[in-house]
Amino acid sequence: LECEVTKLERLNLIGQLAAGLGHEVRNPMTTIKGFLQMLQDKEDLHTYKNYFDLMIDELDRTNAIITDFLSLAKNKPKEIQRQSLNNLLENLYTLLQADAYSQGKKCIFEPGEIPDIDIDVNEITQLVLNLARNGLEAMSQDGCLIIRTFMEGSNIILSVQDEGKGIDTEHLTKLGTPFFTTKENGTGLGLPLCYSIADRHNAQIEVESGPNGTTFYVLFPKTVGSYIV
Ligand code: ADP
Ligand code: MG
Repeated sequence: LECEVTKLERLNLIGQLAAGLGHEVRNPMTTIKGFLQMLQDKEDLHTYKNYFDLMIDELDRTNAIITDFLSLAKNKPKEIQRQSLNNLLENLYTLLQADAYSQGKKCIFEPGEIPDIDIDVNEITQLVLNLARNGLEAMSQDGCLIIRTFMEGSNIILSVQDEGKGIDTEHLTKLGTPFFTTKENGTGLGLPLCYSIADRHNAQIEVESGPNGTTFYVLFPKTVGSYIV
């Protein structure tokens, strides 16, 4: 037991350090960005506009890395509540639909008959957001993202299917490796977060990918905690 407590305290400390570092680094970055934006608009510096754009982009990317890293490093205890996954997704869906439409894409939610499960709303919301955003980012215009829930054997399954370009075979094994990204502005921290959240829920993530798109499956066990269907 003593060992467990020290481990927990250590994790807590790492989380606090990470949050502190993020905060400390972000403040000066905000200042730098502000000055860059100001200089960017100066007439006599116009020849350097591309450099300013680049510097601001890189600052934004650094900021994104800090945000993703912080949600990963946060060792907040889970707030597990038995609830309807479909309700959670229904709420999230409005947001995702707006996201999709603004990019000329579609998002559909097909809820299936599933029992309530024990989940942390914030964490599962993060997980779905990250999978959905990856799906949207992989698709060209007119693409459609489909989120489904259904039962299969003893699992409650949540799937996020896209009509994107698929994942190269040599990249499949790298999914979930921190900082692995094929995107110019990617952080490579989205999937590691998904895997860590799934892990904390005793859920598994499976991937199916081909030239017509990719589907991520999150398999929740039907028996979560003391819940038996
Ligand atoms: P990021 O989105 O910042 O690149 P992620 O951890 O979310 O980081 O994803 C890592 C990489 O996995 C992506 O850069 C991409 O190459 C690949 N990937 C993830 N989801 C998909 C998807 N739905 N379709 C195609 N590639 C994907
Ligand atoms: Mg991502």
